[in-house]
Parts: sequence; structure tokens; C-alpha cells
Amino acid sequence: DSSPQVVTRFAPSPTGYLHIGGARTALFNYLYAKGRGGKFLVRIEDTDRERSTDDAVKAIFDGLSWLELFADEEPVFQFSRADRHREVVDQLLERGAAYRDFTPAEETARLRDEAKAEKRTFESPWRDREPTVDDLSQPHVVRFRRPLPGRVVVPDAVQGEVSWDAGDLDDLVLLRSDGAPTYNLAVVVDDHDMGVTHVIRGDDHLNNAARQSLIYDALEWTRPVFAHIPLIHGPDGAKLSKRHGAQAVHEYAEMGYLPEAMRNYLARLGWAHGDDELFGDEQAKAWFDLDGVGKAPARLDFDKLAHVNS
Ligand code: GLU
Repeated sequence: DSSPQVVTRFAPSPTGYLHIGGARTALFNYLYAKGRGGKFLVRIEDTDRERSTDDAVKAIFDGLSWLELFADEEPVFQFSRADRHREVVDQLLERGAAYRDFTPAEETARLRDEAKAEKRTFESPWRDREPTVDDLSQPHVVRFRRPLPGRVVVPDAVQGEVSWDAGDLDDLVLLRSDGAPTYNLAVVVDDHDMGVTHVIRGDDHLNNAARQSLIYDALEWTRPVFAHIPLIHGPDGAKLSKRHGAQAVHEYAEMGYLPEAMRNYLARLGWAHGDDELFGDEQAKAWFDLDGVGKAPARLDFDKLAHVNS
């Protein structure tokens, strides 16, 4: 077989406990890789220094351990890779696929408002302007230069083919003025360097797939397969919230749920496998496929969970 080994990852931001949506994302990544002789990796996306906490990192690892979703390699901490992210920004600048934007923040905000009022996409005045040597010593951000005009097409394993007019996306900031890499850049560089072949994550990241795909293309890196899974909703179909009951994985553990029951339940949340009510880990690994993941939000059903647990 010449196809590369499947590599998936779970990439939580450590800003809170592991919630069941995150746990399900982790489980889908785990099952997909394990059913194909592949690797499941974990990356802690701790680039937001203000919101990331050690307690959250611990809570996430505790939750994953309880569910026995162990990574095949040491976890990667994204913030520790900032130099590598900046190195790739230099490559993009050399290729002309990124540019330095010296517009002061207040002016950018004003231009953004103006563009919004005129119903057009914000463009930086520096997109097509050469900086002088004097300019270069001034504070600036680095922006991605998206190819215009054009369409970004992302074949998504759950959503089908999704496309955007590149004109509707703006030239995203890759490096902030303090030199901090931004989320979309860091994700692309890390997924590439970790050899990730399949990105399975919540569909709140679908638009990011368009931006990330453009960055892959600019670097001439192979894009991963994207699979954006619908979020979990409460039994009433509304966005999951406290009033629907427990949301943190550790709360279920405290209530006496067994990890196997939780895994079985999470596997079936938004993924259909015939009529089989209960199945073990080996079956889940063998059966799980992205084709079976539905496009509509999954609904929590506590009766089902209690049933699986009994
Ligand atoms: N860190 C992101 C989050 O927690 C996920 C990024 C990704 O999976 O690409 O929402």
C-alpha cells in the first residue's frame, strides 16, 4: 500500500475543562486513526497566553486519560513552536505570499469600518505597496496575500465540497506586531510538521479550512483531508448549555458513568452505524468512518446515555 499512514490529532485550546464536544472530537480522531493502523496525536494550542491555563491543560489530559484516548506520541505544545512559525512566515514573505502591513491599528480599524459600511472586503493599503528601508524599522503585522481573484474549494469528508470566493476572505494576519503567530498560521505549520493527514474537528472551524488551505497552497504543502463535524446540541435542539446538564467529561465521571459507556455513547453521537446499540472498542475502531458522520447537529440524549451505562 503506497498511501501514507493516517495521522490524526486532537488540538484543544487549554482555556477550560474537556467538554463532551471536545471529547467526541478526540474520539472520532482516535477511532479514525486506530481503525486504519494510523497514529493519533494531541496538540495543546496554548498560543493565547492570557486564556491558557495549566489547570485546563491538566483537565484535558485527565479527561482524555479517563476515556483512555492516549496519544501515540508526546503531546505538542503549540506556543513552544513560535520560532518555527516565524520561520515559515519568512518563507511566505520570500515567496511574495505575505506582506508587511505598517498601518497603525486605529487606522486599520477605521478602514475596516469604512469597508464594512460600503459592503466590501477590507484591503490593507500595504497589499501592493513596497516598504522603504525606513518603513522596515517600524512596527507592523505580517499578512497573508490571498490570491485574487479566485475561488477556494475545500472537499470536506463530512460537509461535501465547500467553496468560497477568495474576495470575501480578507488578508489574514499571520504575525501580530509583537511577533506572535496567529492561530491559522500555527495550525497549518504544526499539522504539516506533525504529518497530519486528516483534520477532524468542529464545524465552527469550517471557514478556517478555506484560509488554511490557501496557506498550504502558498507553501506548496499537501493539504490534509478536512472533516468538519457538526456541534452537539441539547435534547431540545438548541446550542448545548448548562441547563441541558453536565457538559464536562469529569462531571460524568463523578456521576458514576463508566468510560466505556461514555465512549460508546459519544461514538454514536452524530455518527450512525446501522442499528447496533452497543459495541466494543475494537468494533468502533473497525467500523468508524467519516461517511457515517451526519451533517446536522447531533442531539444529546441522556436517556440513551443512561441506557448505555446500565
Ligand atoms: N484549538 C482549536 C479549538 O480548540 C482547534 C483547532 C483545530 O482543530 O484545528 O477550537
